[in-house]
Amino acid sequence: MKIGLEVHVALPTKSKLFCRCSADASEEPNTAICPICMGFPGSKPMLNREAVRMALSIARALGCKTPSNISFLRKIYFYPDLPKSFQITQLEEAVGREGLVEYKERGVRIRRVQIEEDPAKIVRGDEYTLLDFNRSGVPLVEIVTEPDISGEDDLRDFMTELRSILYYLGVDIERELKVDLNISLAEQRVEVKNITGIKNIADAAHYEIERQEGLIREHRAIAAETRSYNEEKMSTVQSREKESNEEYGFIYEPDLATYDVSDIVPEDPVYATRIADSYAKGFHANAQQIREAILFNRDTLRLIDASKDSNEMRIVMNGIAILQRHKALDIEEGEFLRLLELLRNGTEIDAGIIRRLRLGEEININMRANLDELDDEIRKTIENEGALIEEYKSNKKVFNFLVGKIAKKYKASPRYVSERLRLILEGEEKGHRAL
Ligand SMILES: [Zn+2]
Repeated sequence: MKIGLEVHVALPTKSKLFCRCSADASEEPNTAICPICMGFPGSKPMLNREAVRMALSIARALGCKTPSNISFLRKIYFYPDLPKSFQITQLEEAVGREGLVEYKERGVRIRRVQIEEDPAKIVRGDEYTLLDFNRSGVPLVEIVTEPDISGEDDLRDFMTELRSILYYLGVDIERELKVDLNISLAEQRVEVKNITGIKNIADAAHYEIERQEGLIREHRAIAAETRSYNEEKMSTVQSREKESNEEYGFIYEPDLATYDVSDIVPEDPVYATRIADSYAKGFHANAQQIREAILFNRDTLRLIDASKDSNEMRIVMNGIAILQRHKALDIEEGEFLRLLELLRNGTEIDAGIIRRLRLGEEININMRANLDELDDEIRKTIENEGALIEEYKSNKKVFNFLVGKIAKKYKASPRYVSERLRLILEGEEKGHRAL
């Protein structure tokens, strides 16, 4: 099985690709427009340098070769979303070529990364069609892969990796994503066009793979065709396609120069998955857990990075989980380290403590139990309450009674005490320092 993708994502620039209109397409319809993005005759495009820088950053992060010169083409087609009858795009002198995305000991080759303009948005009613030109001219990047994806799970993993790479470049594909899937189980290639959203991509692939497998089982031919995905029915249907790339008319864009981009400095990419693996090694912790925590969250990455010397992954992850619950992940690194100190001392963290941490207030952790003292107290309780201890395994109430007694005396968190008590009772003290 071979799956290839064409992924279109919007670049989060302030202004559009060829004019100074706002690229925020959510504004009141047809307010962020000008003669350039509406394609008036005689208007001349001006290339947005920031869009080029972002696109080059993406190309680099996907392991592509980036050229010193880029140029643009007109892709000619007739459709109401582009009144000037062509879309400005790239092919040969694109921002990136021949890349490679590596994940889970696999690799997907990237054929090309190119910049293009988004057409206008079409809103269809029962008896009318409306056009919103706010979106016309918003910068897009199209990422074209080779057909290296080997199935549904692989597709999911690739999209997660791609999303993570782009996320750390400031591009959240969850917000706006359009994908064309090419799937071939046999000789013929079937294209499923215009799928939006990550979940729909996997669903569309799932349906299309089953459909083609069914045809093969029945010894029927698979037609080389273009289909579209129906989100409600979760199925694909044959669609009448505009044209294939070979049939489009392409001409050189005479209003834009060939641009020397060798002086544009792309961003250094952050690879969340690689960072997670290296932290996991340092912490002797589960890479998957760290990967999930930092994949799409800059704050968790920042906090884990700040605490990497602590060598106590469980406390760090616990601290992050608590902050997540209290929607306080934007806490400063120093405050986070103080929070870890409190956790280490068995302090129950509540909203009040987080608030005081953020205000930089002194929190007297001496009021709380000291870890070693607490363990001694637990051991003493075990010795003194011999009869009760015998009962604890069968009777949950006895266990809770002991926890309550120790927690109260030492003003410690019952959850923490119960964890320590259980470990000590079961003689599993090796986890002591890592708790
Ligand atoms: Zn404009």
